[in-house]
Amino acid sequence: MSNYKIETKCIQSGYEPGNGEPRVLPIYQSTTFKYNSSDQMGRLFALEESGYFYTRLQNPTNDAVAAKICDLEGGVAAMLTSSGQAANFYAIMNICEEGDHIVCASALYGGTYNLYAHTIKKMGIDATFVDPECTTEELNAAFKENTKAVFGETIANPALVVLDLEKFAAAAHAHGVPFIVDNTFATPVNCRPFEWGADIVTHSTTKYMDGHATCVGGAIVDSGNFDWAAHADKFPGLTTPDETYHGIVYTEKFGKAAYITKATSQLMRDLGSIPSPQNSFILNLGLETLPLRVERHCENALAAAKYLQAHEKVAWVSCPMLEGDKHYALAKKYMPNGTCGVITFGLKGGREEAVRMMDSLKMIAIVTHVADARSCVLHPASHTHRQMNDQELKEAGVQPDLIRFSVGIENIDDIIADLSQALEQV
Ligand SMILES: *Cc1c(COP(=O)(O)O)cnc(C)c1O
Repeated sequence: MSNYKIETKCIQSGYEPGNGEPRVLPIYQSTTFKYNSSDQMGRLFALEESGYFYTRLQNPTNDAVAAKICDLEGGVAAMLTSSGQAANFYAIMNICEEGDHIVCASALYGGTYNLYAHTIKKMGIDATFVDPECTTEELNAAFKENTKAVFGETIANPALVVLDLEKFAAAAHAHGVPFIVDNTFATPVNCRPFEWGADIVTHSTTKYMDGHATCVGGAIVDSGNFDWAAHADKFPGLTTPDETYHGIVYTEKFGKAAYITKATSQLMRDLGSIPSPQNSFILNLGLETLPLRVERHCENALAAAKYLQAHEKVAWVSCPMLEGDKHYALAKKYMPNGTCGVITFGLKGGREEAVRMMDSLKMIAIVTHVADARSCVLHPASHTHRQMNDQELKEAGVQPDLIRFSVGIENIDDIIADLSQALEQV
């Protein structure tokens, strides 16, 4: 980890060219790597030596970008995945197996909710969902003998609940399990969950990190702080011999890099959700301007939230940066420089008027996306969260009339003008 400030890390971390080498991180668009001796290749396969041999396991472009994200979060090791979904899947699968259980904050991205509530259940891993605003007693009551992890989003998509990171970290650690945080919306520019007790951070890099809606991707970062060996009985995958690598024990051989090394050498080897080096190159360009964009996203989001709040046709606005918002105090604590560019609101006319207003927008587009340079809207109850019933929607913090508004980095006057003309149509 470098000592540079975050703006500098976004530019400089992860890749340092040698004399006469390319100034910009090259795209190693190669599936494979050449060796002169069969012996050396053998040592790579046995994890006795580190080096590149096949891009599904490691690739220099992917690794450089992973190293940058690792540095931004203040971690010790990181890996990229082909999507945020893959990151959240691997983060759990790396330490859970059939018969295990996880505790999750219920306000989650719809795809993550489906993954944890339904898909991993078919693999024998159960999840208990808790209200993120529950008391410590309620949170502790969700743990079982077989609980292996706690999961939550820094700022929930789209409920915009700010997670009380310290409360969740304390409960996880009291039960001897890691706290995994999806930090997609806050980005390490606005919040670094490791500083508040999180052990593992995940990202959908598809959002602000890429920032231009060009590449789906994900990342997992390990703080190196969780002591797997101290809870060896809970995490046999990390603390007992891996027969598929001649009996190596990850915690013994790789120390603080054990978790990420296992994720790479087992899960990526077997499941293969790697990003293309080309996509990682594009992600890296996005990362270079992340602090500038995040600052503008937050500034525009707060201005748009204030505009909407004052509008007679608007019933409610949710933006944790807005004084008086339910999550204002937690946002100030964990993200004093701003939360993110996503805000939500509802109209007095309810669900039907919400759809009419969205259809009337001219510049702000209806797209299944958030957190890129262009302003966009989505109606989660009819789009991303369509599979959920009313009770599940409520638990996920999604009202049926909720419009998710991802405020872009256009000039705020143009954003407000578009909102204004669309609101005139309802
Ligand atoms: C979008 C998103 C994901 C899923 O990421 P993909 O890159 O779309 O697979 C996970 N978590 C959060 C908070 C998200 O916003």
